[in-house]
Amino acid sequence: MADRRVDPDDGAAYTWDEFSVYYKGKYKKKAIEEYWEECKPVKKGKDKAKGKGKGEEPKAKAKAKVKAEPKAKAKAKAKARKPPGAFKVCVCGGAGGIGQPLSMFIALDPNVKELSVFDLNIAMVPPAGVAADLGHLDKKSEVKGYVAELGKPAVTDLDPECLKGCNLVLIPAGMPRKPGQTRDDLFKVNADIAKGIVEACAKHCPEAILAMIVNPVNSIVPAMAELYKKKGLDPMKIVGVTTLDCVRASKFVGQITGKNPNFINVPVIGGHAGITIMPVFSQDKTAATIDQEKIAELDKRVQDAGTEVVNAKNGKGSATLSMGYAGARLGRSILAGLAGRRRVECAYVKSDITDLPYFTSKVVFGEGGVQKVLPIGELNEYETKRLEEAKAALKIEIETGVKYAEANELNC
Ligand code: NAD
Repeated sequence: MADRRVDPDDGAAYTWDEFSVYYKGKYKKKAIEEYWEECKPVKKGKDKAKGKGKGEEPKAKAKAKVKAEPKAKAKAKAKARKPPGAFKVCVCGGAGGIGQPLSMFIALDPNVKELSVFDLNIAMVPPAGVAADLGHLDKKSEVKGYVAELGKPAVTDLDPECLKGCNLVLIPAGMPRKPGQTRDDLFKVNADIAKGIVEACAKHCPEAILAMIVNPVNSIVPAMAELYKKKGLDPMKIVGVTTLDCVRASKFVGQITGKNPNFINVPVIGGHAGITIMPVFSQDKTAATIDQEKIAELDKRVQDAGTEVVNAKNGKGSATLSMGYAGARLGRSILAGLAGRRRVECAYVKSDITDLPYFTSKVVFGEGGVQKVLPIGELNEYETKRLEEAKAALKIEIETGVKYAEANELNC
């Protein structure tokens, strides 16, 4: 496996490829090489902790880096950074199965100053109730509930204060999958729901990152990103949430190997449905120790994990608690990035790292949101074959989304 080193700037571990791609254009090649030499190689077993930005910045290194960084650049960087802990977040569908635990995890994030919980008047509990409940947590976040009437467009019916000033909007609003139903069956109904919310965001918080949890993510993200583009807005603000696939892959690898999943970090690339979900086990040290003959089954378990939950809930919902956890992990990383503490997470975004216009891969989140879409990295023979299979299926689902965007527009 490629040598990985910890960048003291954010405590995350990178391969040379990821590292050089990130700094390319910001510093001269020689400076990047010198900085790479300063970075500490990842110790065996410590990879995940650092990769998720849990590591503290070693003081001596931080000092050395500050010294080495040209003053003008350091100043510009400091200026671009937003103060930590001052962000406004909205959870749309915040009174739903995913929305409630997601709102709770987000309310606990020290980077969050204000949280809007938005839902419809038909939600299982009024969003004002969820807000009142979360408002009693002894955290600094102020939580407010907002409601809109079913069938009325959010862009006109929703109180603009809900979205105004938002830095991040998390969108689990929509119908969950029923047993036997594919994510594609859901597309039409959920695309209209997502469009209504995206329309309101385009009007009230066009600079916010919109994290789309609503399924089918493979088609919804291209649809919304292309609609944003059509409106003259930045399609990179639309981010598909695929974090649950990574969470599951790492958990299952932990179960098989007996290792703590907290220190396992399996990237999952491609898309977020069936065979488009492609765990890259060879790129995690622990997962790479699993016998190759067990990989196909493990791969399949990650692909079908959503169905495991749908069936276990007997059609009364899909993954909500694990999804709340996973959505909040991505949300926290996005906010950390906006605060100037770069984070790397897999996400489904507009991309040019393959021949498909949308793709899930590791993404660097920084001051402006998506800062860099990282390359896939090395794949083994099994994964190389799987990639082709995943891409063929994903291509069709992307087309569904693009066609929707061609036939519609944001009315705002
Ligand atoms: P749920 O029905 O429990 O909650 C959805 C909530 O959205 C409800 O409270 C509903 O009132 C609200 N809502 C519907 N239309 C709305 C609108 N126009 N504006 C505001 N709120 C609206 O469903 P759930 O289990 O929380 O799932 C939500 C979505 O997330 C589904 O589409 C599901 O398939 C998807 N999902 C995604 C992932 C992922 O990994 N990305 C995982 C699991 C589920």
